[in-house]
Amino acid sequence: MRSELILTDEDLRKYPFLPSAVERVKELGLTLADVASSALKSVIERAGRYIEASIRNSEIPPPAEDCDEEIVSFMVSLLILKLIGDRLLVRRFAATFARRSRFFLGGEEQDKVLYLLSSLGIKVRRAGNAFGYPLSVNVFDYLSNMPERRGSWKLVHRIVERGWVYVGKAEAIRLGEERLRTLIERRVEEIKVDGLQIPDPLYSLAEKLSSEWGTYLRKIKENWAIAGVDDWESALPPCVKTIMDSVKAGKNVPHSARFMLASFMLSVGLSVEEVLEVFRATPDFKEQIARYQIEHIAGLRGSRKKYSPYKCDNMKTLGLCVAECNVKHPLQYYWKSLRHRTTTKRDKV
Ligand code: SF4
Repeated sequence: MRSELILTDEDLRKYPFLPSAVERVKELGLTLADVASSALKSVIERAGRYIEASIRNSEIPPPAEDCDEEIVSFMVSLLILKLIGDRLLVRRFAATFARRSRFFLGGEEQDKVLYLLSSLGIKVRRAGNAFGYPLSVNVFDYLSNMPERRGSWKLVHRIVERGWVYVGKAEAIRLGEERLRTLIERRVEEIKVDGLQIPDPLYSLAEKLSSEWGTYLRKIKENWAIAGVDDWESALPPCVKTIMDSVKAGKNVPHSARFMLASFMLSVGLSVEEVLEVFRATPDFKEQIARYQIEHIAGLRGSRKKYSPYKCDNMKTLGLCVAECNVKHPLQYYWKSLRHRTTTKRDKV
């Protein structure tokens, strides 16, 4: 349900991805050459700062005071990301930008939240406090935007009535964040640069950011090499390898998969620092939070209990098992595989 609401400049400033923001820029009739002119230098600089923030995993700076500057900067950011052409960076940007929007949405009245989520394509409606919930979301939209497939997000733990899932305001906003993340990724993908006359300042900025991103990726690879990950990876059980590949590709993996990967790596002897490096590629990486969680799993915090990786039975229940390996525990697979490789190597000498 889409309630009527007039969006103000302040709204468009906070949510520059909305269809009405795009319309507004169209009405301005700006060309790329205009954007690259010295009069609009602040737009390119701002777009650069947004992408830099994603590369460095810091928060996206607050929006520009001027609504038009913010909308155009957002659009220029997408164009620069397209020019750089790295999907991992796009994912990183989308996650960081969506997080900033979630923060703003959290401070909005319910009617505005309802309107903004509808604008993002989520079917949501007032629930009138039925079962204690203020809102309900169409079950398909719920399923395609839920951030995790476990815990309280699992449909079996929800109240569903005639195709509508009851949610709290914060949960609805979280669904909106996921939706926005995928929308931003899709928008970058759909940009066609062939035949576009890209002004020099835009190209130079894309080159500079691409080089900064390349340095960042090299640093991650070097850290992985220090951990001997190349060798280590080939002995991984298929389930852990699948999670690792998703993390490397910058995908947003569920909490249970992150726990499994972290506890597994700690169990086979990687340090907290090395595990932290592996997770650095995740789109929503926050060093302080990730470090805290890894140290907790390693038994260095809280109850001081070191957590073990899931057994195969648990992995199956969580939907994380991807093969039939004839073992009871993924660690069993790993140690067997290492033993086998050591024996084969020795036999060859
Ligand atoms: S059987 Fe066990 S080790 Fe193999 S993929 Fe499934 S959970 Fe992993």
